[in-house]
Amino acid sequence: MTDRPLLLLDVDGPLNPFRSPFAALRGYKSHRMRPEVWLSYRDPESRAARRGVRVRLHPSHGARLLGLPFEIAWATAWTHQANSMISPHIGLPGDLTVVEWPELFARDPEGLSWKTRHLSRWAAGRPFAWVDDMITPRDRSWVAAHHPAPALLLRVHPRHGLRERDFTELTRWAEGISPAGR
Ligand SMILES: [Mg+2]
Repeated sequence: MTDRPLLLLDVDGPLNPFRSPFAALRGYKSHRMRPEVWLSYRDPESRAARRGVRVRLHPSHGARLLGLPFEIAWATAWTHQANSMISPHIGLPGDLTVVEWPELFARDPEGLSWKTRHLSRWAAGRPFAWVDDMITPRDRSWVAAHHPAPALLLRVHPRHGLRERDFTELTRWAEGISPAGR
């Protein structure tokens, strides 16, 4: 436990820019993976299931994330497989805290992301930055109204993945809420 804010990190979108046509040119490496959450939607005998899903990851992202003044936790449907399958390729430790979900992709009565309410509860009053491709203005206003500490909801488009501007924004936000940054 530290007094750093939490960095609640999604995989598909921020780390895996699955809509980027030029990821390889930007230094991303391509991998084939068979995460449980992905396999659960496929016929195990199918060619797609045997081949796995393509995941693009940037080898430098782990070091960049570890350089931020946050305590990182996985906030992804990959759950524990983010530690075993994603971390080794980007240089994150394989034992990061993992947010466990009561139900994956649950429909929200107010149209929030299926993660929003649970993440606020999970953060238990601590400040957090949540980095995800599925954040909408509804999630932002709900968190602003309900989370009792500062929260940054940073949407990263799956065409881009994490970019320099995102690291800058995360750093500035963390500095802005910590006593040392004032
Ligand atoms: Mg995502």
